[in-house]
Amino acid sequence: AAPHEHKLAIGIDLGTTNSLVATVQSGEARTLPDLNGEAMLPSVVRYHAESVTVGKDAQLAAIEDPINTLISVKRFLGKSIAEIEARYQQLPYEFTEHQGALAINTVAGPINPIQASAEILKSLYQRATESFGGEEIVGSVITVPAYFDDAQRQSTKDAAEIAGLKVLRLLNEPTAAAVAYGLDSGQEGVIAVYDLGGGTFDISILRLNQGVFEVLATGGDSSLGGDDFDALLVEHFKSELNLSDLTPHELRLLIQKAKACKEALSSYEKVNVKLPLRDEEHVVTVTQGQFAELVEPLVKQTLRACRRALKDAEVTKEEVLEAVMVGGSTRMPVIRKAVGEFFAKEPLTSIDPDRVVAIGAAIQADILAGN
Ligand code: AMP
Repeated sequence: AAPHEHKLAIGIDLGTTNSLVATVQSGEARTLPDLNGEAMLPSVVRYHAESVTVGKDAQLAAIEDPINTLISVKRFLGKSIAEIEARYQQLPYEFTEHQGALAINTVAGPINPIQASAEILKSLYQRATESFGGEEIVGSVITVPAYFDDAQRQSTKDAAEIAGLKVLRLLNEPTAAAVAYGLDSGQEGVIAVYDLGGGTFDISILRLNQGVFEVLATGGDSSLGGDDFDALLVEHFKSELNLSDLTPHELRLLIQKAKACKEALSSYEKVNVKLPLRDEEHVVTVTQGQFAELVEPLVKQTLRACRRALKDAEVTKEEVLEAVMVGGSTRMPVIRKAVGEFFAKEPLTSIDPDRVVAIGAAIQADILAGN
């Protein structure tokens, strides 16, 4: 279509830790940045008596104002108070029941997870509107985990409605990733989507059949992610430096250094970590090989989940045509290598693993808008 006939539609990756919005313009899908050039919006909502803050500013307030700063509310979508209270006792929130639904007591009154999610969607919608100069957005595609049940999907739709967003369709996150790579117009068969984020691991086995993706099985571990790789590096630093009792401040420093070291090891063979501790500057050198050895148990844990999901899907590794990589932690060479060996094929990594879901959602939205 000519540019003036092109209808604007957006794809939203409403994530547990970060959310993104993307669109197709001039035939190209891209994520839309905020005014600071950041594509990722931390999925954090802070309630004040009369106003709401979303994103990085809210995230920064989490330590000073934990009760009113809602983090990762996606975990609470479509859940009852009984389910939440049993599982999340250590959280600083005051859970309550309001109008028959789960809510969190804040300075702005009881807020349910749908309302908080709506604030995230509103913020992304506004970002898109501003970047289009006010031109009309005809609709959106919002992604959800493949394992979301009906209540969780309905809650996501309700959040969109509160945000004033027209939803063309909800799309499964692994399907969006496959769409981003154009696999929907490729060979029919089985596709694996390996999604390793900061705190969670999801493996999805899809089958493309007559142009439609069907979810054959999902699996993973909701408490395995990049943070656990950081934690192993922290233990390594502690043993190298003979440290035992760390103050909370020292621990926070080590975690920060570990995360930076891990990320640098995705680009460099060897990293020197400087640790200013107790009036001394220590240096610990970590190589990719040492790191790979250190985190091997975690890598194996993800592969066990892959094996289980394949079994549930009743397919073999050999039937998998492509392995799609999603989530920031799939930048680790040790992960790419392990997944490549497991499926005996080079995994798809050319699209930014943090953006691939939003990109796929944007492509789907563009099609559904009639472009
Ligand atoms: P996500 O939740 O998908 O944004 O994933 C965030 C996780 O990805 C965090 O644990 C990050 O430390 C990790 N991550 C981001 N960039 C890299 C990198 N270059 N190498 C290894 N891990 C990374």
